[in-house]
Amino acid sequence: MASNITGNVMLKHQDITVERLEKFLSDTYFVRENLYGKLISLKSSEAVKVKVSPKVESLVSYKDAIQLEYKDTKIGESFGPSWSNYWFKVTIDVPSDWKDKTIHFIWNSSCEGLIWMNGIAIQGLTGGTWQDLREEYKLIENSKGGEHFEFFVEVSCNGMFGVGKDGLINPCDPDRTFELTKAEIRVKNKDANELYTYLQMLYDIGKNFPKESLRKKQAIWIANDIINKCNVNDSSTFPTCISMAKEFFSQKNGDSQTKIWAVGHCHIDLCWLWSFEKTKEKCARSFSTQLLYMDYYPQFKFTQSQAQAYQWTKENYPELYERIKEKVITGQFIPTGGTWVEMDGNLPSGESFIRQFLLGQNYFKKEFGKQCTEFFLPDTFGYSAQLPQVIRHMGIENFITQKLSWNNLNKFPHSTFIWEGIDGSTVLTHFPPADTYNSQADVKEIVMSSTNNKDIDRCNESMLLYGNGDGGGGPTIPMLERLSILKDTDGIPKVEFSTPAEFFSRLQPHRSKLNKWVGELYFELHRGTYTSQATTKRGNRLCEIELHATEMLLSYCELFVGTNFKAPNLSKLWELVLLCQFHDALPGSSIKVCYDDILKHHQQVLAECKNIITQCMKHITSSLLTIDHLPTDNVPHSEFVLAFNANDFEITRVIEIPKSTKDIQAQYINAVQTSYNGLPLGTVTLPPNGFSAINISTTGDNRTINRVPQYPVTAEQKQLNGDILIENQFIRMTIGSNGRIKSLIEKSTDREVIKEGGSLGNRLIIFEDTNLFWDAWDQEIFSLEKPLSILEGSCKIIENGPLRCVVQIHYDSKALPSGNGSLNQTIVVHFNSARIDFETNVNWHEAHKLLRVDFDTNIRAKNANYEIQFGHIERPTHYNTSWDFARFEVVGHKWADLSEYDFGMALLNDCKYGYSTLGGRIGLSLLRSPKSPDDTCDMGSHKFTYSIYPHRGSLQSASVIKEGYALNNNFYISEIPFSLASATHVHKTFISTNKEAVIVDTIKKAEDGNSFIVRIYESHGGATTFNFISSILPIPFKSIIECNGLEEVNESSKSYNFNDTIKIKPFEIKTFRFISN
Ligand SMILES: [Zn+2]
Repeated sequence: MASNITGNVMLKHQDITVERLEKFLSDTYFVRENLYGKLISLKSSEAVKVKVSPKVESLVSYKDAIQLEYKDTKIGESFGPSWSNYWFKVTIDVPSDWKDKTIHFIWNSSCEGLIWMNGIAIQGLTGGTWQDLREEYKLIENSKGGEHFEFFVEVSCNGMFGVGKDGLINPCDPDRTFELTKAEIRVKNKDANELYTYLQMLYDIGKNFPKESLRKKQAIWIANDIINKCNVNDSSTFPTCISMAKEFFSQKNGDSQTKIWAVGHCHIDLCWLWSFEKTKEKCARSFSTQLLYMDYYPQFKFTQSQAQAYQWTKENYPELYERIKEKVITGQFIPTGGTWVEMDGNLPSGESFIRQFLLGQNYFKKEFGKQCTEFFLPDTFGYSAQLPQVIRHMGIENFITQKLSWNNLNKFPHSTFIWEGIDGSTVLTHFPPADTYNSQADVKEIVMSSTNNKDIDRCNESMLLYGNGDGGGGPTIPMLERLSILKDTDGIPKVEFSTPAEFFSRLQPHRSKLNKWVGELYFELHRGTYTSQATTKRGNRLCEIELHATEMLLSYCELFVGTNFKAPNLSKLWELVLLCQFHDALPGSSIKVCYDDILKHHQQVLAECKNIITQCMKHITSSLLTIDHLPTDNVPHSEFVLAFNANDFEITRVIEIPKSTKDIQAQYINAVQTSYNGLPLGTVTLPPNGFSAINISTTGDNRTINRVPQYPVTAEQKQLNGDILIENQFIRMTIGSNGRIKSLIEKSTDREVIKEGGSLGNRLIIFEDTNLFWDAWDQEIFSLEKPLSILEGSCKIIENGPLRCVVQIHYDSKALPSGNGSLNQTIVVHFNSARIDFETNVNWHEAHKLLRVDFDTNIRAKNANYEIQFGHIERPTHYNTSWDFARFEVVGHKWADLSEYDFGMALLNDCKYGYSTLGGRIGLSLLRSPKSPDDTCDMGSHKFTYSIYPHRGSLQSASVIKEGYALNNNFYISEIPFSLASATHVHKTFISTNKEAVIVDTIKKAEDGNSFIVRIYESHGGATTFNFISSILPIPFKSIIECNGLEEVNESSKSYNFNDTIKIKPFEIKTFRFISN
C-alpha cells in the first residue's frame, strides 16, 4: 500500500475516526468497500435443496416427522400461520472444489428453528434480523469437497418474541407468515472475521470510554492505523492488521483491575408472548445450541435455572436431556436457582415459596446429584421481605437478581450487599452491575460491570450475566469469542468464564465489609402486576387454600382412618400451581393463550382437591360410624354432618344448614333465619385444624346449629334519606343510600372509623389507568391524579338478622366509562363479628381503567402493615421522600392494617394484592383493563370479596391475622347427614399450638413418605414459646424433630416430645418432622 504518498501520520480527528471505523464494519453502508463485505469468501444456495412437510403441531417426534410427506420448496416462500410448525428436509451437496474449508450452513426462516441430525437435536436457529439472530451452523471442518448431507430443520412459526401484531408486546397476530430468506452454505474468510471481532471491540472502546481515557485514545489510534493498512481486497493484509490489534488486547492490566465472572445463561420465560407449550421447544433449541458451543469452547460454562425447564426437556427430548446430564457431570452445564420455576417474588403464599424450592431442590438432587447453592431470579417484579428466610430455610445462602435496575424513580444503592429479611435471616446478594440479565458480553457491558458496581471499593468483583434471553437462546459465538479474548486487557476488567457458585465463593471473604439492606426489595415499576389478570390471581389463591386443606385432611386420614382410595399425586398438583406462579404468569403479563392454560391448570387442581376432600370426609364419617357413637334404639339420637375447619383457630360461623334427609321440613320452619335465597341458616363452632360432627337437627332439645344469638345483628332503613343502619354487639354502621359508608362506630372504643365530611367509606372509584409502555405491567403514579368517577348505588336490606344482615347494592352501570357491564354488591354483617364483608360481582368491559375501593378513615398512623408470606411488613402512609412515594401501590396478601395506638382498621380481601395507603385513606385495587399483551385481560365476570375490620388494640391483639384466614379459608361439610348417639367425642383438633401467634400453616406427608411435616410460623413479630396441642388421645406421635424446609434432619437437629415447650423467634418459620407411633 502506498502509505508514504502523502502524510502517513495520523491527523487529530478522533470523533471522525470512530465513525470511520463504524462504516468500515457496517452491514449497511459501503459494504462493497468495507471489511463487512469480505467476511464471506464462498457461498452457494444451489448446493442446498429444501423440501417441506405439511403444517404440523408442536412437539412432533423426530421419528414421526421424518415419515411426513415432503414437497419441494424454495427461498422466498412463506409459512404460517402463527404458532404452526413445519419440518424441512435439507439436502446439501458440497461443491467438489470446496476443499480444506470450514463450511457453515446458513438458515433464516424469519422465525425460530431447530436442526435435527440423525434424530438428534443439534442446534437452535433464530431467524429475522435482530441481535438475537442465530442463522449459522458449522457443518464441517476440513472439507474434502463433494460431501453429501441430509438433515432436518424443524421450524416454529413465531419470532423469538412471539407474534405481536405491529409491536413487541401487542396482542398476537394469529395470521402471521414467515418467509424462508436463506438456505445456503458458506465458507467464511477466517482472517477477515477475526479482524472484524477485534475492530468491533476497538470501536466499542472508542465509542464508549470517557474522552480523556488513555485506552480510548490508543484504541482509536490503532483502529485508524489498521484501516489505513488494510486492503479489504487483499486478504494478505489481514494478518498484519490482526497482529496490530492483538498487540493492543494483549497489553495487561495491573493487579487492581476489576474481575468479572462471566456467567453464560439463557433466560427462558416459561410463558410470556408465547405459550407453555412453545416454551418446551425453546428449551430444546437453547439447550442443544449451548451443548454444541461447549464443545467449541471447552472453558465455556452455561448456567440454567428452573427445574420445570429441565423436566419438560426430559419428557419431550430425552436424548437431549441425557447429553445435558453428561455435561452437568463434566461441570459445563450448571443447574442453578433451586426453584421449580423463576416465580413471582410478591404474590405466592409462604407455603408456595417453600414448595418452589422443595420441588426444585428435590428435582436437582434427584436428577443431577446435588442441590443448588444459589437462588437465581433475575427477572421478577419485586422481592418479598420474607424471601431471605425462605431461601435459608431451603438450604441456600446466595441470591442473584438485577431487576431493580429498572426502577423508574430511585436508583438502588448497592450491587453486592447483605439482604436481611423480616426475621433477621440474611443472604449474600449480588445485582450484576451491567444492569441486564441478557448482556451481549461486549466491551461496553463488561466495563459497566466495573464502573456501575456500587460496592467496588469493598468488593472489586462482579458477575456478568450474558446470553440472549427472555425467549431463550443463550450465548452466541461472537460473545464467546469476545470473552475469550478479553481475559486480561489493560483498561478492561479481567474476564473469566464462571458459574454462580464460583462467583459467590469469591465474594465470601468480603462479606464483613458489605452494607446491609433490610426488608423488601421493592420494585419501582410494574405495580399493575399486583392486579392484572384477576381470574389467575383468584385461581392461585384458591389453589393455595384448597391444597392446604387437602394435605391436612389426607395426613389425618392416613394416620387415623387408613385410606383405601388412591389419592392423586399432590406433587403433580403443586407442580401445576407452581408453574402458574411463573414471573410472567401470575403477575398478569402474558398473552391470552397462557391465561387459557392457567385457568385449566387451576381448575384441574381445584377439582382434584375437591375430590380428595370429599373422599376424606367420607372416610372420616365412616370411621366415626364404626366406633362408639352408633345410636341404639333406646338412646335418643340426632342427625349430624361432619364439618372440617382448616384454620388454625376455633371458628364460629353462620352457615347454610345442610339438607337433612329426615328433618328437611323442620329446618325451613324452625330455622333461626332464612337467607335471601331461601336457605335455612345456622351457627357452627369448629375446633382449630379439626372437625366436628355438627348436630343439624333444628328441633328438640339437643339442637345445636339453631341457636338464637344473645346479641343479634339488626338492620333498619331510614324512611327519610334511605340510609341503612346496621348494628351488632361490636359495630354500628350507617350506609348511605348510594352504598357508601357514612359512619362506622367501633362500639368498645366508641370510635368513629370513617372520616367525617361525606360518604367516605366503600368508595368505588374508577381511575384512568394509562402508562408509558408496559401496559399489563404498570400502574403509574400519574393515574392517581386522574380519578374519573365514583360509583353510585342504590341499596336495600335483603336479610335482617338475627344471625346476619345483608344489604344489596346495585350500582348504576351508566357510571362505568364504557357504559357497558354491571357492578353489584352485598354488604354482609354477622352477629358475632366486627368484620364487614363486601361481596362483589362485576361484569367488566373497560379499557385502560382501574377500579379501586377506598376507605377514608380517622386513623392517624405513620405506617400501615401489610401481610406478606409468613408475616407482615410496615410501609409508610406518607410521601415524604421519593422512596416513600414510589411505594404508592404496594403488595399485600390477605390483609392490610392501619392502626394508631389501641385502635385501627384492617382492609381484607379474598383474592386481591394491590394496596395503596395515604394518610388515613386505605385502598385496594380491584380490576384493571390493560390491552397488551392480552387485549381481553380482565374482561368479563368477576366475583370477589373485600372486608373491613375495625378493632380495638393492635392488629395482633385484635386478631387481624386470624380474620385474614377466616375470610379466605373454606369450611368443608360432608354432604350426607348421619345419625349419632352423641357428638361429644367428635370435636377434634388434629395439630395446633397453644399460642395464637404461632400458626400451624401446613400439615403434610413428608416427601420421602416417612413421617409427617408440620410447618409453623410466628405471626405477631415477637419471640415467644409454645406447645403443640392435639385433642386426639393418646397423642399419635412418638417424637418431633426440627428440620429445614427441605425436610432434612442432621446431627444438630433438635428433637422434642409432643408436650415439650418450644422457643420461636419473631416471624420465624419452623419445620418439624412428626414421627408417628
Ligand atoms: Zn423473564
